[in-house]
Amino acid sequence: MRAARLLPGTSLLTLADVPQPQPVDDQVLVRVVGAGVCHSDLHVLDGDFEHLVQRPVTPGHEIAGVVHALGPQAHGIDVGTPVVVMVGWGCGVCLWCTTGHEQLCRSGREAGSTADGGFAEFVLVPHARHVVPLGSIAPLDATPFGCAALCAFAAVQRVLPWLSSSDCVTVIGAGGLGQYAIHYLRTLSDARVIAVDRRDTAVARALDVGAHHALLADGVEASAIASLTGPEGCRAVIDFVGSDHTLTLAATLAGTRGVIALLGLAGGTLAYGFESLAPEVTLTTVVAGTLADLHNVVRLEQRDPLAIPLTTYPLDHVNRALADLRAGVITGRAVVLPRSMERGDDS
Ligand SMILES: [Zn+2]
Ligand SMILES: [Zn+2]
Repeated sequence: MRAARLLPGTSLLTLADVPQPQPVDDQVLVRVVGAGVCHSDLHVLDGDFEHLVQRPVTPGHEIAGVVHALGPQAHGIDVGTPVVVMVGWGCGVCLWCTTGHEQLCRSGREAGSTADGGFAEFVLVPHARHVVPLGSIAPLDATPFGCAALCAFAAVQRVLPWLSSSDCVTVIGAGGLGQYAIHYLRTLSDARVIAVDRRDTAVARALDVGAHHALLADGVEASAIASLTGPEGCRAVIDFVGSDHTLTLAATLAGTRGVIALLGLAGGTLAYGFESLAPEVTLTTVVAGTLADLHNVVRLEQRDPLAIPLTTYPLDHVNRALADLRAGVITGRAVVLPRSMERGDDS
C-alpha cells in the first residue's frame, strides 16, 4: 500500500510502498477514506515530540474510513462499517484505561506518532473499541471528528460546569478546533461566545458557526473583549493556540472563579500566582478526549452537523497540505485522501 513516511533526519514526508498490514488477535484494519492534517502533525515533523515519535512512522492521527478486515478475536464491529478512529490507544487495563481515560494511558500509543497513522491507504487499529461507527455520516465528512471535534468537545465539557446563561466564554483560535468548540458551546450552553483569531477568514468563520462576537487579534483584543464582558470578565477561556501571548491574554480575560482550558501546543507558559490571575481561577490542560467523548461527538454530529470546510489533497500532495497548514491558509480542515477517486474509492 502507499504510505507517507516520516524518516529520520527530515521534516518532509516520503511516499513509499509498504506492506499492507494484516490484522491479528483483536486488531481492526481500517481503509482510510480521509486523514486530517493537524498542527500537532507539524510538531511531529519538526521533531518537537522526538522523545515519543518512533521514526520511521506514518503520521496522521485524525482518521475516518471503513472497516476492511478483522483479526480473529475482534468483535463488535463488522467489515464494511464506516468508522472514525480514536486518537489514543490505551493498554486497556491500567487505572486510566479502566476509568474511561485511555488517552492518558502511560503505556498507550497514538496513531501517527508512536504507531503508524492515517497518511496511508490502511491503518491498523489495536482493538474494535478504538473505532466508533458513524451510522449515516460519510467518512470524509467525519474526518475532523477524531481530533478537531473530539478535542473541542472535551474542552467544552471541561468548562461547562463554570458556565451559566449570563456568562461569557472566549475561544482563542478559530481554526478547525475553535470552530467545533464554538459550535458545541452554542449547542450545550447559553453562554455568550466570543472568538478571537489573527486571521480575517477565521474571524468570519467563527461568526458563521455561531459566535456572538468575533474579533481580530490585533494587539488590543484584550481591551476589546473586556468592553464586551464588563468588569466580571470571562467565566471561561479556551486557548487553542497556547503561545505566551495567548496564555497571557487568557489570564487577562479570565474573571474571578473562572477557568482557563489549554489545548494549543505552541509551547507558551503562564505565570501562576496570586498576582498573575484573578481570584480562584482554575487552570487545566485538556489532553484530547475520552472514548465516550468521541461517541458523543458522533451522536451530536448525527443530530446537528457542523459543516466545516474541507480542503482535500491526494496522498501524493501530503507535504503541500502540511505546508498550507503551516502557512495559515487553511480555514477549516486540510484532509489527505489516501485513495483518489480515480483509483476506485467509492466512499
Ligand atoms: Zn490533532
Ligand atoms: Zn492503560
